[in-house]
Amino acid sequence: PAVDVGAVLRGAARRYGEHTAFHQDGAEITYAALLAEAAQVAHGLRAQGIVPGDVVAVHMPNCLDYPAVYYGILMAGAVFSPTNPLLPPAELAFQLRDSAAVAVVTWGAASGVLAAVREQVPARLVVTVDASLPDSLTLAELRAGQPSTAPDGRPQPGELAHLAYTGGTTGRSKGVRLTHRHVVTNVVQSACWTSGSTAGLDAEGDLLLDQVGSAQEWPTRLGTGVSVTITPWFHAMGVIGYLNVPVLTGYTCVIHQRFDPGAYLADVERFGATMIGGAPPVFVALLRHPDAATRDLSTVLGLSSGAAPLPVTVIEALRVRFPDAVIGEGYGLTEVTMVATMNPSWRSGVRKVGTVGVPAHGTEVRLLDPYGAEVPTGGRGEVYLRGPQVMEGYHERPDATAEVLVDGWLRTGDVGVLDADGYLSIVDRAKDMLLYKGYNVFPRELEEILHTHPGVAGAAVVGRPDEEAGELPVAFVALVPGAEVTAEGLREHVNAQVVHYKKLREVHLVDAIPVSAAGKVLRRELRDGLTAHT
Ligand code: ATP
Repeated sequence: PAVDVGAVLRGAARRYGEHTAFHQDGAEITYAALLAEAAQVAHGLRAQGIVPGDVVAVHMPNCLDYPAVYYGILMAGAVFSPTNPLLPPAELAFQLRDSAAVAVVTWGAASGVLAAVREQVPARLVVTVDASLPDSLTLAELRAGQPSTAPDGRPQPGELAHLAYTGGTTGRSKGVRLTHRHVVTNVVQSACWTSGSTAGLDAEGDLLLDQVGSAQEWPTRLGTGVSVTITPWFHAMGVIGYLNVPVLTGYTCVIHQRFDPGAYLADVERFGATMIGGAPPVFVALLRHPDAATRDLSTVLGLSSGAAPLPVTVIEALRVRFPDAVIGEGYGLTEVTMVATMNPSWRSGVRKVGTVGVPAHGTEVRLLDPYGAEVPTGGRGEVYLRGPQVMEGYHERPDATAEVLVDGWLRTGDVGVLDADGYLSIVDRAKDMLLYKGYNVFPRELEEILHTHPGVAGAAVVGRPDEEAGELPVAFVALVPGAEVTAEGLREHVNAQVVHYKKLREVHLVDAIPVSAAGKVLRRELRDGLTAHT
């Protein structure tokens, strides 16, 4: 679509005006008010000398003011660059210098870390949402006296909208350049999947319906959905799937800043949530909470997971608890804005458990072997993606860009398998694969087997470097409280089911598997910890 991201909100404000867009701890904002506030933020930023193309960082957790700040930055023609509010000072300073952000909007506890690094970063304007810092403006001051109609001069579709940093799970985080076109395209691709009817958007934000003949089975209709949102908006999955998509489709989002499974389940019941979503650890925690059995969760029509593999045993448990809901899974990377493939298929509605589905509208997937030859159906290969949501490149990293963008295809670093119907399964990340005496061992396969044991709450497999074998598979396991199983018992449970080179050499019981804010297992941390477990 040839439109700017602001169109997502402009159209929503017209369609859903007095409907509640966001709710947090008893406070609410309607769609009409959100557009007015975003316009004030845009004018306020311009009044402070922010010009189109300037990068504005947002260093805060999800909160009621976040959406107005987000759309306000984009409506001013500036570039949204979110940071994880829990970043330690050195990483925050790195990201703010790397993005060359001229302004930062921050909140509460996160502002303390910003204050500590302020001298080391180029930002000349700091805006705080809820408190004040020296030499900064509050959000109220930024907006005061500004008009509540959008400023002139909409950004062009090809202009930069997001400078998004990769999760840094496998190395130093890189800035991903995404234009307005990338963002709007991926929002519409996702909305086609979950709303059943949104197929496009015009410059005023009006929906162009049924262009792609979406025929899937999510039962939520436009303007009727409610979700309880914990997915962080600083991450691709959050800002696309849990901010823009709900706005486009007229959802009411109940914001939970911190994930507390009991409080989450209580609000699903209280607000009659129709859609719940997040990274896999969220679903594991919800299912394990005692209130999952007693709360009325019958309003839930859809569950959507992404960011990391959802173990098949978890899907089965969700099916038992939510027999009538659609269980969806998306696969993507920051480099593709958010999502590249989706299960069930947006086209046919057909779901295949254990896969991440079919490519989004306009998207292609192919699998290549290490020599660059296409892998036949059913074979394993590295996943390459092409589509309108694939990034322009990394920010000021031409070498890194050239490594991953090859003839218009994005090299993902993930290993996958395609079936005869074009459904993709993610085997694992190539970088996480272990090499045992020349054999490939995929941690995910062993983790799936560990998850089939009823005593296992979380599991991660990493390689222990070994002079003779190369790497030995070692598991870290967190047990369900009260589970009666030993490390040795788990090792036998797995080893009875796999060939010799995949056998686990060690199982270490831990209190919890470390995961990132986006819900990914922090394997580096586990590998570093291995020395402590010798
Ligand atoms: P970095 O690239 O800096 O290490 P990161 O990979 O954590 O950071 P993201 O872009 O958030 O950054 O993660 C993308 C990766 O997440 C994909 O390459 C893939 O390995 C994994 N992933 C996402 N969705 C799924 C899914 N549904 N199933 C399996 N893996 C997934």
